[in-house]
Amino acid sequence: MPSIRTTIAGSLPKPEWLAEPLVLRAPWRLEGDALAVGQDDAVSLWLAAQEEAGIDIVTDGEQRRRHYIWGFVEHLGQFDFDNQGSKRSRGQRYSTETAAPRMLSDLQWDGPVLLEALRFARARTDRPIKVTLPGPMTVADSILDTAGGRSDADFAADYAAILNLEARALAEAGADVVQIDEPCFNIYTEAVRDWGLEVLERAFAGVAAKRAVHICYGYGTETVLNWKNANRDWSHYDATLPLIAGSTIDQVSVECAASGVDPGILGALEGKDVLVGVIDVGNEEVERATVVAERIRHALDHVPAEHLIACTDCGMVPRSRGSALGKLRALAAGAALVNRELGN
Ligand code: ZN
Repeated sequence: MPSIRTTIAGSLPKPEWLAEPLVLRAPWRLEGDALAVGQDDAVSLWLAAQEEAGIDIVTDGEQRRRHYIWGFVEHLGQFDFDNQGSKRSRGQRYSTETAAPRMLSDLQWDGPVLLEALRFARARTDRPIKVTLPGPMTVADSILDTAGGRSDADFAADYAAILNLEARALAEAGADVVQIDEPCFNIYTEAVRDWGLEVLERAFAGVAAKRAVHICYGYGTETVLNWKNANRDWSHYDATLPLIAGSTIDQVSVECAASGVDPGILGALEGKDVLVGVIDVGNEEVERATVVAERIRHALDHVPAEHLIACTDCGMVPRSRGSALGKLRALAAGAALVNRELGN
């Protein structure tokens, strides 16, 4: 039988000497050359931890980014982070208006932003590497386009053209998987159908790597957890996954452990790799391997083993280092239990 593989959504916590733990977008605790060396060390540490745990497809843990959107997008033009505007974003799930940095210039791409980071990781592991990038719909939802005044759809299309250059360069330099993060696909399902998926596919055109999209219900932070605990409508994947089934996307990362999603919807992704979230990133408690295995078995009813990649629900950046390490081990151990049952 083919084996179930393992990976993570993308991010891991920063070591406490690099940034304050348990905080999203925590400021760096180092500067200049010391910061660069510190980030290198943090990447090395997490690559080794993923290998030691037995994770098959690894990431650099996004150790060089304070935030998954801004750590990339800030390199693509001039932004005002000090004098932010406000915007109705994330479907007003978490607040009526959300602070949004102003974009003061046109988008520009002066060469790959994440290339050196990829080369660093490539030189330190023989395992397949995944690189993550913030998606067009999600970035459009997060900024105020002061310079262009474009609609979210128009901004997303322009951003996708630049994202495509970056994704192609990363694939050529040896990224095995290029993942685009689109949590907003779980919010604006009509926009996904009208323009979101088309724009996402344009970002992937000609990219010679596995093309993955991560669609979740957000980080395990207090604001998000409050929304999740009150939420009763988990039908968003019912709208989006059947659309993605007919696309050029190879892999879809889906939050299943902490959401109320019915795993039956995963069957809509026939032929695609499904990164099934079997690790809850919303609490510090490390799941037992048997719990992880049980979640994988539920998914196996709808996704064949060769297409099932056991994954975390979302990034682990807001977790403690100890908890994240435990969850990595539980993820690999849970998958190993099921693989033994499959005769592997
Ligand atoms: Zn996520």
